[in-house]
Amino acid sequence: MPSLEEYIEEIKDLWESKVLTNTAKKHKQLETELVKYLNSQNITLFTNGHLALEYIIEALQLSGEVITTPFTFASTTHAIVRKGLIPVFCDINLNNFTIETTLIESLITERTSAIIPVHVYGNICDVEEIERIAKKYNLKVIYDAAHAFGITVNGKGIANFGDASMFSFHATKVFNTIEGGAVTFKDASLKKTIEAYKNFGLTGPENVEYIGGNAKMNEFQAAMGLCNLRYINQEIMKRKKVFERYIDQLEGLRGIHLPKIQNGVESNYAYFPIVIEGNTNNRNIIYEELKKQNIFARKYFYPLTNMFDCYKDRFDSNLTPVAQYIADRVLTLPLYADLSFNDVDRITTIIKSNSSVLQ
Ligand SMILES: *Cc1c(COP(=O)(O)O)cnc(C)c1O
Repeated sequence: MPSLEEYIEEIKDLWESKVLTNTAKKHKQLETELVKYLNSQNITLFTNGHLALEYIIEALQLSGEVITTPFTFASTTHAIVRKGLIPVFCDINLNNFTIETTLIESLITERTSAIIPVHVYGNICDVEEIERIAKKYNLKVIYDAAHAFGITVNGKGIANFGDASMFSFHATKVFNTIEGGAVTFKDASLKKTIEAYKNFGLTGPENVEYIGGNAKMNEFQAAMGLCNLRYINQEIMKRKKVFERYIDQLEGLRGIHLPKIQNGVESNYAYFPIVIEGNTNNRNIIYEELKKQNIFARKYFYPLTNMFDCYKDRFDSNLTPVAQYIADRVLTLPLYADLSFNDVDRITTIIKSNSSVLQ
């Protein structure tokens, strides 16, 4: 969070203008600054990341089947299903937990309209191979980039891959607008459509061209974003230090795999996932031991979305065995900019003292 004073200063003029929402001044200003920061051509803001994803799916007029992965937050799969589409689950790869591109082509049918891959934990999908496949089969690509704010690949902003990318600005993410989200997209002509969609389909005071809904970001959210964006590089630098401290403390520990930053990637250090080998109970032991000491690691992402109760009997998680393997063994450790090295050391000490009993 910014300081309270800074946020108050930022929202003061709302008491003069009395314009609280409807793509007003702060909304526009945040869009301008984000286009610069993300180095993307087109952007439009949303009240949250999930609706951003639903609305871009709608604006791109996807139909039939969509190839995606189950190793993600509920949002990705739900957005596909809620828009009346069928998710076809592709497995992930063992190195970075993103979509296994060698399996994509075998899942394409004549009903496939798009690929919706996820940049998991800020690990970047094989964007070039995905682009090759999408071109060959004439498919749209929408990235769930909720974890990937501010990341660059070989100097290129992550918002520049695929037809569109969805970002989440939820309070728990690297950059937040309290709740919030955005879509960046390639085709500038989409702007008018998607902006109409998020505002009831209105295209003028007396024109309603689309059956839209309401998913606009309000001025208070945008003001929070304007404040937080001033500190984003500093925030990421601090996260990097915490990340490196974890690596220093856990390196070489048997049976535990540490995250690796990919070649050419400037990371945002959003998460610190460890994979604990062996019996799936090993992960749960460490999770519980941390919890006993008031340290709340997360089983991101467990269960897989294709195992959710609401999708019972619709999908088979045995078809995505690598995702199943990782979901059963992964633990994301606490990571935020102001996490002290002392606390990191406390956490890693607990892990080390328990890892000796693992098998
Ligand atoms: C947070 C998140 C979302 C949803 O974003 P909200 O802003 O919370 O609606 C979608 N996908 C992934 C992978 C996320 O982590």
